[in-house]
Amino acid sequence: MTSHLLPTYARVDLSFDHGEGAWLVTGDGERYLDFGGGVAVNSFGHAHPRLVAALTEQAQKVWHVSNLYRISEGERLAARLCAATFADYVFFCNSGAEAMEGAIKVARKYHAAEGHPERYRIITFEGAFHGRTLATLAAGGQKKYLDGFGPVVEGFDQVPFGDLDAVKRAIGAETAAILIEPVQGEGGVRVVPHAFLKALRELADRNGLLLVFDEVQTGIGRTGDLYAYQHTGVVPDILGSAKALGGGFPIGAVLATAAAAKGMTAGTHGSTFGGNPLAMAVANAVLDIVLADGFLDRVRYHAILFRQRLAELKDRHPTVIADVRGEGLLLGLRIVGPSGAFADALRAEHVLSVAAGDNVVRLLPPLIIQEAEIATAIERIDAAARRIEAANAAAPADAKTGAPA
Ligand SMILES: *Cc1c(COP(=O)(O)O)cnc(C)c1O
Repeated sequence: MTSHLLPTYARVDLSFDHGEGAWLVTGDGERYLDFGGGVAVNSFGHAHPRLVAALTEQAQKVWHVSNLYRISEGERLAARLCAATFADYVFFCNSGAEAMEGAIKVARKYHAAEGHPERYRIITFEGAFHGRTLATLAAGGQKKYLDGFGPVVEGFDQVPFGDLDAVKRAIGAETAAILIEPVQGEGGVRVVPHAFLKALRELADRNGLLLVFDEVQTGIGRTGDLYAYQHTGVVPDILGSAKALGGGFPIGAVLATAAAAKGMTAGTHGSTFGGNPLAMAVANAVLDIVLADGFLDRVRYHAILFRQRLAELKDRHPTVIADVRGEGLLLGLRIVGPSGAFADALRAEHVLSVAAGDNVVRLLPPLIIQEAEIATAIERIDAAARRIEAANAAAPADAKTGAPA
């Protein structure tokens, strides 16, 4: 046995000593352009001075007090999140799965408070990912993650991606809510058309359902707005946030309107660590950065620039890159051959990416990315594509694996 870590991950044999902005550096001084961002978490790069200061300053004061007491940084963070969004209330937790678990509980409790505890079912979409707890796995409905873990948590009705008629058919007397990611991240960077979200909003209103957005991956500037819903013209009742909200410090949040949260009275939900002073201090610093004048404008500018350059690469390498998709700096390359081989080729060029479903490789640059770093990334992605082309040219016609040289 080489490691006592439970072998639930297929890890790459690489480890990093430290990070600087968009870069991660190994113990041997090898520099990698980090376009994985710890899976859409390190949106402000590594060792951002403002985040380091917020964490270390708070660490000298108090780390943890529990929710038996008031936490002023948490009150401030909740007020700022509400001022910047549709929400009236925020519940803090520690991860995306916990945020979505909380969102599901808020939606169910709403109907119970309305006198309809029988309305607990939630409509979800194929290809979704909402986390790895038992309820969020049931919501995601992915067989490979559910297998062997006992009875699937009851109350989720999954319909095909983008199928409005299926949503209508799935609505029944027991339906409580519709749950959707505005852009499916793990599912392959699949953007939900805004017209579809609008139609869901109308269906929800007509049937007394709550609309729940999972913005764990799309939130905190990733798509060019603080939350992706803000450029869709559709406002949810409940929203789950996590990942980049702590810039690398674990945190999750459930945002809700006062109406949707009506069932969540004292004692109905809780978390020992949720809203812990360290997490609150860092997340407030994250909001300082992302809400600063012009920050999101620069994200949108760099997103357009990067996407245009990626589209050029797709045209240059049509046997390698099938499609460029996404929103803002949540971008995906759909690969012609095996996407894993392309991610390997990127890593050989010292670019980190994240795999996704639908044969997609996600590119998630930090939101603080500069033009020079985008140019470097494009050169390296180009080189990775050339590696695949060379490997294909060398392989016999019936065995084009796309493996890197
Ligand atoms: C990552 C993710 C989750 C789960 O978050 P964890 O922090 O891993 O529990 C839930 N929903 C979406 C859309 C995600 O991308």
